[in-house]
Amino acid sequence: MKRTNVVRLLVSGTQKTHLRLIGDRVSSLWNSVNFLCRQRFFGGKKVPSYCELCREFKDDENYRALPSHIAQEVLKKVSKAWKGYLRLKKLHEKGRLKDKPGLPGYRKNRKTGTRPFNYVPIKSTGAYSIVDDFLNITLPSDLRRRNGDRLSIPYRGILRYRGEFKTCELKYDPSRKVWYTHIVVEVPEPARKERPVRYATADLGAKRTMAVTIEGCKVSYVFSGRQLWKDYKYWTGQISREQKRLSQQGLETSRRLRRLYRKRHLRLRHAQEALAKKVAGILRKNGVTHFMVGYPKDCRESMDFGRNNQKVHNFWNFLGFIRILEKHCERRGILLERIDESGTSEVCHLCKRTVRRPVRSEVICPVHGRTHADVNAALNMLGRFIPGYRNGLEASLVWVTHEWNRHLWVPRTESLRYVSQVLGQVA
Ligand SMILES: [Zn+2]
Repeated sequence: MKRTNVVRLLVSGTQKTHLRLIGDRVSSLWNSVNFLCRQRFFGGKKVPSYCELCREFKDDENYRALPSHIAQEVLKKVSKAWKGYLRLKKLHEKGRLKDKPGLPGYRKNRKTGTRPFNYVPIKSTGAYSIVDDFLNITLPSDLRRRNGDRLSIPYRGILRYRGEFKTCELKYDPSRKVWYTHIVVEVPEPARKERPVRYATADLGAKRTMAVTIEGCKVSYVFSGRQLWKDYKYWTGQISREQKRLSQQGLETSRRLRRLYRKRHLRLRHAQEALAKKVAGILRKNGVTHFMVGYPKDCRESMDFGRNNQKVHNFWNFLGFIRILEKHCERRGILLERIDESGTSEVCHLCKRTVRRPVRSEVICPVHGRTHADVNAALNMLGRFIPGYRNGLEASLVWVTHEWNRHLWVPRTESLRYVSQVLGQVA
């Protein structure tokens, strides 16, 4: 399987110029390749494949201006972009896609008319290497004489994944004015120890974030997204203030604005990574082997938060979060599976009677009374995998609520007290 290491490059003055130049040439080649593809496409002909593009551009000046491993990767990226577009177009024509896909665009800033230089793809280790905390990149032939064959840039960061090096990408972040490199490595599949099968399930909700139940475990875990949502709203406010300020000056964007967006994203990402790590740790401790995550397939349509609708969907990206969860579970040897969660929140987990849901956070069964809505849904999912499953606590269902304190996910004190009380009674 493939994994990506991201490290920050410590670029010196001359190296900066070189990277900008290479990045600019990448954009230039991209544009001329894309021009050809568009011409063919509008002319009603077949869009050329990667091999045809290689033949076509072998002697092109834009191609020759780059080391072959970079130039080839650019052709590959354009070809991939077209393949993706054609696939989406077909889906759209069949009516299975709502929005019409856009054609692969040129690498050009329409307002300023300049070419961006922020992206350099490298095909393989033929044109880059990593030696002792240095990233070495092959230079284009015209830059070689004075500067040696390779650009040797020190980097900061840890290569988390070790394995066979594959492609590499250099990306420039204009809001931070920093270059990053993304190195893809092929990592061997982790050997999973044979353990007795044990299931756990999770229900993902937008604002309440997550409820986890484990087979045979008396306590469920709820992770509240309240603090996170507050934090997100705060930074959204900062962003709209900055936007207001800019619009008064007739501007659209600024470095400060981009940094605010980035900050909001990274703060959320931090909490999500921490949450995934915490959950994977809890599962491992309980000997879980299979983790079933209910994925709301049509959550965009079915969950309506009114005025905040758009905000919520931007805020909590389900697929993105499941991917983070997958990563952390894999490290601990737990298999994550996505399952359809439809119908799990409408019935009581004990008697399967239809429940009332006066507020989003709780459901009321005519026989068993109030329950946490997400915990109920997670228990229902568990019931699907283990028929006749009961959690050993017929009526007194307990859960611990965790909150994000901007550093860690910690259990609420009153929640712990309540759990120990209930479990004390049962014992
Ligand atoms: Zn019931």
